[in-house]
Amino acid sequence: MADKTIPYKIYLKENEIPDRWYNVRADMKKKPAPLLNPGTLKPLKAEELTPIFCEELVAQELNDTDAWIQIPQEIQDFYRMYRPSPLVRAYCLEKALDTPAKIYYKFEGNNTSGSHKLNSAIAQAYYAKQQGLKGVTTETGAGQWGTALSMACSYFGLDCKVYMVKVSYEQKPFRREVMRTYGASVTPSPSDTTEVGRKILQAHPGTTGSLGCAISEAVEVATHNEGYRYVLGSVLNQVLLHQSVIGLEAKAAMDKYDIKPDMIIGCAGGGSNLGGLISPFMGEKLKGEADYQFIAVEPASCPSFTRGKYAYDFCDTGMICPLAKMYTLGSSFIPSANHAGGLRFHGMSTVLSELYDQGLMEARAVEQTSVFKAAEQFARVEGILPAPESSHAIKVAIDEAMKCKETGEEKTILFGLTGTGYFDMVAYEQFHNGTMVDYIPTDEDLAQGFAGIPSFPGNEF
Ligand SMILES: *Cc1c(COP(=O)(O)O)cnc(C)c1O
Repeated sequence: MADKTIPYKIYLKENEIPDRWYNVRADMKKKPAPLLNPGTLKPLKAEELTPIFCEELVAQELNDTDAWIQIPQEIQDFYRMYRPSPLVRAYCLEKALDTPAKIYYKFEGNNTSGSHKLNSAIAQAYYAKQQGLKGVTTETGAGQWGTALSMACSYFGLDCKVYMVKVSYEQKPFRREVMRTYGASVTPSPSDTTEVGRKILQAHPGTTGSLGCAISEAVEVATHNEGYRYVLGSVLNQVLLHQSVIGLEAKAAMDKYDIKPDMIIGCAGGGSNLGGLISPFMGEKLKGEADYQFIAVEPASCPSFTRGKYAYDFCDTGMICPLAKMYTLGSSFIPSANHAGGLRFHGMSTVLSELYDQGLMEARAVEQTSVFKAAEQFARVEGILPAPESSHAIKVAIDEAMKCKETGEEKTILFGLTGTGYFDMVAYEQFHNGTMVDYIPTDEDLAQGFAGIPSFPGNEF
């Protein structure tokens, strides 16, 4: 058994919490491709984005040059209520696996919203308040983002309008009630409160909604109401920037004990937690100061990196958002209804897409029953009940630790444990009852999604 010179939990002191975010784009020689206006196919200018998004957030979105961005004091104060998050040495898991690998995880589930999403929600709410806005609108699927945003808005006294995919609204009443506890108004989408919602309801009566449709409603409400803007909880550059607090804290904690991870693993939905976790380490790799192996883990049922195309595509099903160059399955791709484990976005952060395309990062796709098996194994020895999304990272961390057992290598593994799974017990129930099935889309299924990727000169894939 490993020596215990490293504590089970490494916490930073309050004055060691980062006061700046790190913008990895500044250190990328080849930058992520710019967002395009879908009408003109020209790079979007700030003034085209500010009617939808907050001004300061647009500036962060387009900032490819400043490596460090000061975290405003009010956001730092809020961070101190639930940060630093612990960096845990998984001694119990190592023992259970009987592996020579050293496993660490950065746990972001220690706040009421239950995930890392609060790190960006509080920043976005702050800038909306600074701009003198009345409120913000957003969509939520499973509800983690809506929950985090409603907490952040209530802290700054902002109105928060959440469009929640109707099927989740009905099936996840508890998350909905957490949002309402924090003062958000939650509307099942599609709804009759927007033009786009009424149109969809007319064309598809009885529909249970989709994320793409909820985005369209939230954007409409933001652009049609004075003093409102739209906010998004993943995918965007600004969100990766805010989430860099995860990686900066993890690195500072490891540096304290001279620990250097060999590999860093994270689950990838839109890429925000993974991007945030790896940013400072990737920065060192880009500058040639250190080398690390980075692994993005995605569901085999929604394999954007491992089977997607690197092309300009729409971020939403309604095709109203800008075009982003990313690994994508096509904006019309919807993972099978059997898919329980989150991470169901068809595209991926442009920053991570570019890093992956340059071969600086790897990706693996894993099947959901193997993910829940890993989740249960982890819960039983490490105590934490992990979110299904986070459990994708657990699965690959365990796989890698087992490889070390075969080879005898003492690799140091760091993975991101993004949240807790208390609201996902229906999926756990399916797993326990043996009714959970794995679904891997066929090439024909994927071809349908690819057919919807816009075609224009320069967008060959
Ligand atoms: C939203 C979410 C994810 C995936 O989003 P990313 O932007 O890819 O980080 C992962 N884990 C949890 C717990 C989440 O709530």
